[in-house]
Amino acid sequence: MKDRNSVLQATFLLELSMTTQQVNLHKKRNIGIIAHIDAGKTTVTERILYYTGKSYKMGAVDEGTAVMDWMEEEQQRGITITAAATTCYWQGHEINIMDTPGHVDFSAEVERSLRVLDGAIGVFSAVEGVQAQSETVWRQANRYHIPRIAFVNKMDRIGADFERVVEEIDSELQAHPVVIILPLGKEADLEGVIDVLTGEALIFDQESLGSSYERRTLSPELAMQTQIYREQLVERVAEQVDGLMEKYLESHEISTADLKRALREATLKARLTPVLCGAALRNIGLQPVLDAICTYLPGPLEVPPVTGIHPKTGAEQVRQASAEEPLAALAFKLAGEAHGELVFLRIYSGRLRLSGRVYNPAKGKRELITRIWRMHANKREPLEEAGPGDIVAVAGLKHTVTGDTLTDQSHPLLLESIHFPETVITMAIEPKSAAERDKLAQALSKVAKEDPTFEWRVDEETGQVVISGMGELHLEVIKRRILRDFRVAANVGRPRVSYRETITRPARGEGKFIRQAGGRAHYGHVVIEVEPGGEQESAVTFASKIKQGHIPGEFVDVIEGAILSEAKAGVITGYPLIQATFTLVDGSYDPLDSSEIAFAAAASLALRDAVTGAGIILLEPVMHLSVICPTAYLGDVLNDLNARRAEITRLEMKGKLREVRARAPLAELFGYATALRSLTQGRASYTMEPGSYAPVPREVSEKLLG
Ligand code: GDP
Ligand code: MG
Repeated sequence: MKDRNSVLQATFLLELSMTTQQVNLHKKRNIGIIAHIDAGKTTVTERILYYTGKSYKMGAVDEGTAVMDWMEEEQQRGITITAAATTCYWQGHEINIMDTPGHVDFSAEVERSLRVLDGAIGVFSAVEGVQAQSETVWRQANRYHIPRIAFVNKMDRIGADFERVVEEIDSELQAHPVVIILPLGKEADLEGVIDVLTGEALIFDQESLGSSYERRTLSPELAMQTQIYREQLVERVAEQVDGLMEKYLESHEISTADLKRALREATLKARLTPVLCGAALRNIGLQPVLDAICTYLPGPLEVPPVTGIHPKTGAEQVRQASAEEPLAALAFKLAGEAHGELVFLRIYSGRLRLSGRVYNPAKGKRELITRIWRMHANKREPLEEAGPGDIVAVAGLKHTVTGDTLTDQSHPLLLESIHFPETVITMAIEPKSAAERDKLAQALSKVAKEDPTFEWRVDEETGQVVISGMGELHLEVIKRRILRDFRVAANVGRPRVSYRETITRPARGEGKFIRQAGGRAHYGHVVIEVEPGGEQESAVTFASKIKQGHIPGEFVDVIEGAILSEAKAGVITGYPLIQATFTLVDGSYDPLDSSEIAFAAAASLALRDAVTGAGIILLEPVMHLSVICPTAYLGDVLNDLNARRAEITRLEMKGKLREVRARAPLAELFGYATALRSLTQGRASYTMEPGSYAPVPREVSEKLLG
C-alpha cells in the first residue's frame, strides 16, 4: 500500500513538474536585438534592463557606463563588440536578450546569436532609416526564419520621419510592416506614443526616467487618424489569418484580443512585422516593446523542433523542446576568464545538470559540467540545472568549442554548425624575444578558440607570426588584447589584405612516396583530380572515387586530412586555396610498407602537382560599402571612390542625406575612415563588409607573386 502511494505521489509530482515546465516554456523568449551600428541597440537594451528591474542605475553609452558593453575595449569605443546574453522578467515572462554587435567586423557574433534565437527586434533610426547593415542582418535573420518586430528609434531627432522608415521596411526589407505604435508628435515635440490597438496615448513619466507611464484618451482628431491605422492593421492581418475576415465582415468590429491573437499568428509565420516607435534616449516607448516581445514573439515551443543528424549513421534526428527528450544543446560562444573558460549554450531539449556528464559527439569526448549560470551582462546567477529554451553559460568543458553540440551519449546527434565568413585582412606580429614567442602563441590560441573569425599561423618561409580577421577594427581590438591584457611584448605590422589562391581549370596530379626511414620502408601512392568551384562558395572539398581495395579506408582519411589542411595553408602562393574540389581517383598501397606518414606525404606531392597544372590565380576580397553623406559632399565622395577602383551600385536619397552603395577591393580601402572624414569634414558615415572575391588585376598579382 505504502509503495503504491509513493508511486502515485511520484507520478503526481512528475506531472506537476511537467506542467510547470510547459507553462514556463510558453513564457520564455529568446530574442536578439539587431540593427545598423548607432541605431540604438545598446541604449534600447539598457532601458529594457532598467524597466525590468535588472539594473539599478541606467547606463549610458556616451558615458561608457552601459551594462551590456562591459568589455573595456567597448566602453572606450562606444560600440558593442561581444554579444552579451542577459535575462530579465516582464509580465511573468522570462526574456533572454542578446545584444548583438552592429559592426560587421564582428559579424560572427551576429551570426551565432541568430543561430540560437527564437525571435528578434530590428531597431532602426527614424532619421537614417533602413541602412546597409540593418539590411544585411535582416537578411541573415530571414535565413534562419526568425519572427521579428521592428522598433523605429530616435523619433526625437531632427529629421525623424516615421512614415518613410515604415515604407523602407516594406520596400527594402520586404518585411510586410504593420504599425501598432504611432509617434505622438516628433523631433523636439515628441510627447509619447499612440497605441493603435486601443486608441490611447501613452505618456512617459520623466521623473522616473520613463519607468511609469500613463494612458490618456486622444483628441478627436488624433483618434480619427489612429482609427485609420487600426483599420489598415485589421485588413492586413485578415489577409494573412484565416477566419478573421469573416468575423470582421459579420460584425464590423474586432476585439483587441482577437486582433492580437491573429497578429501573433502572422508574426510567428514571418508574414507580418509589427512596427513600434519611440526614443530610447528620451525614455519613450520601451514598455510597449517589452509587451510586444511577450505578445508577438515566439516561445521555444512555437518554433519548429530542432533537427540534426546522427553522428554515425547520418540519419535525421528531431528533438522536441521538451525536458523529457534526450539532451540537445549548441555551444555558440566561448569566453575566456581568469578561472577558465565559459561556454554559452542554447539548450533545445533535455536537461543539463550541475555535475552531470554530457557528450560531445564531434570530439568523441565526455564532458563534466561543473557550473551553470544564467548571465546578466557581467553578473551571473548560479543554477542547479537548465532545460529546453534556456540560454546559459557553463564551466568545466575541456574539449568543446563554438559550433559543437552537447548531447546524451546514448542518443547522440550533431546540430548544424555555425557558418562563419572568411577572413579578409592580416597583420604580422613579431615577438620581442624568444620567451615572448611562447607567450604570444598561448595568447593567440586563446583568442582563436573564442573567436572563430580570427586565425593565426606561422609563415613557413619567413617564420613570421601572421594573424587574420574580419576588418581593421577587428584586428585592432585583438592587437590591443594581446599587448595589453596578455602583456606580450611584440611589434605589430600594418594591416594587409588577406588574399586567396584559386584554380581556373581542371588538372590531375600524382604523388609517390617511397623511402627508407627509421629502420623501415614507407610506401604511399596517390592520384587526384582537381576542378574549380564546389558546393560551398569558398570551401575546398574532397571526395574519394577510388576503387575498392586500392587504398584502405584509414589511409583515404589521412589523404583527405592532408589535402584539406595543406589547401588551407596555401599550395603555391602561401595564401589559402579556395573554390576547388578534389577527387581521389587512383593510387596504390603496400600491405607491409604503407604508413600514414607515407600517404600524407604522397597526398601533399599529388596536391602540389595537380594545383601547379590548374592555372593558379590570386583573388582579393571585395567589400560592400555604404556611405551616407550630405548632398553637398556627394561629388567628392564619388570621385574618391572612383579612384579606389570602386563600382557604384546604388545612389539614393535618405531624407536630406545621400546614400552611396559601392563594391570596392579591400586593398584600396585602408584608412578610408580618415580619408572620408577629411573629405566631408566629418559629416559622413560609412560601413563596409566582405562581399566576395575577385581576381586581382595583373599588375598587382605580378607584384605579389614576384
Ligand atoms: P548601437 O550602436 O546600436 O548600440 O547604438 P547606441 O545605443 O550605442 O546609440 C548610438 C548613439 O545614438 C548614442 O550616442 C546614443 O546616445 C544615441 N541614441 C540612442 N537612442 C537615441 C534616441 O532615441 N534619440 C537620440 N537623439 N539619440 C539616441
Ligand atoms: Mg551598441
